[in-house]
Amino acid sequence: MLQDALAALEAAGSEPALQEIKVRFLGKKGELTRIMKEMGALSADERPVVGALANRVKEQIESLFQTRLEVVQESDLRRRLEEEKIDVTLPGRHGALGSKHPITLVAEQITEIFASLGFGVAEGPEVEKDFYNFEALNIPKDHPARDMQDTFYVSDDVVLRTHTSPVQIRTMLRQAPPVRVIAPGTVYRRDSDLTHSPMFHQIEGFLVDRHVTFGDLKGVLTTFVTQFFGKGVGVRFRPSFFPFTEPSAEVDIQCVICGGSGCRVCKNSGWLEILGSGMIDPEVFKSVNYDPEVYSGFAFGMGLERIAMLKYGVNDLRLFFANDLRFLKQF
Ligand SMILES: [Zn+2]
Repeated sequence: MLQDALAALEAAGSEPALQEIKVRFLGKKGELTRIMKEMGALSADERPVVGALANRVKEQIESLFQTRLEVVQESDLRRRLEEEKIDVTLPGRHGALGSKHPITLVAEQITEIFASLGFGVAEGPEVEKDFYNFEALNIPKDHPARDMQDTFYVSDDVVLRTHTSPVQIRTMLRQAPPVRVIAPGTVYRRDSDLTHSPMFHQIEGFLVDRHVTFGDLKGVLTTFVTQFFGKGVGVRFRPSFFPFTEPSAEVDIQCVICGGSGCRVCKNSGWLEILGSGMIDPEVFKSVNYDPEVYSGFAFGMGLERIAMLKYGVNDLRLFFANDLRFLKQF
């Protein structure tokens, strides 16, 4: 029995297996316990001999059980430590980081340039009253200029703003000159094709003070163009018409694709139109209670999608709104 018990204990590889063997030999109904219970039937001479032998067997089984238990527990512990090991020096796994949208990037770069020239940033509502979007900008209800912009009407008197110019009106009504403000934002027109989206972005800027001249307009916008597109890029001012400025000028830059020699993008002219500008019309000053005899100023506006397309060489406007990560990740 001792040999059986010792062999079984040596072979057992886990704590439950060891416990089971101990119970089999030393438990209440175990093999050794049964023999010791039967000792009452022995003679007085045999009893101490068998008793002493049984005790030695019991001690040896318990002793080996204890030794094996410690060995098994220790290897159990080592295995668990190995399995549950955490290496705190391993670098963590980062979540994917997004990047700024190219329109946002361009708006930020433009804002930064004008901020360095002393311009502050203003914002206005995208759902706008007819008065701020049209009337105060010298575009009365029956004015043919309203045909230039196909408008989303919310009601007879409320529109989705068709340009960022209403921010000009709101700012001037709130604040006396001098003012120097740019207003980036989302605008809406009923237009949708390869080069037009019903929702797009503009940045509007204006400056009003005493003695502001067309020379100031040219200086500020030329500074902007050379800072944004680079020093070597040519700039020209072309007469134009807007209801809210007089005189008005469109600003062209030398084609950034062909460098001015003529290509498909610039329609072989060598020039690209990038913004509209002009001296603020005295009629606009009247609607915000600025005295046109005392103050003068200039305003300008540009489409951010067009600027971004030229800056980054993007050839399809729709890419900006498709939310394709393969496109957006490149900026
Ligand atoms: Zn060109």
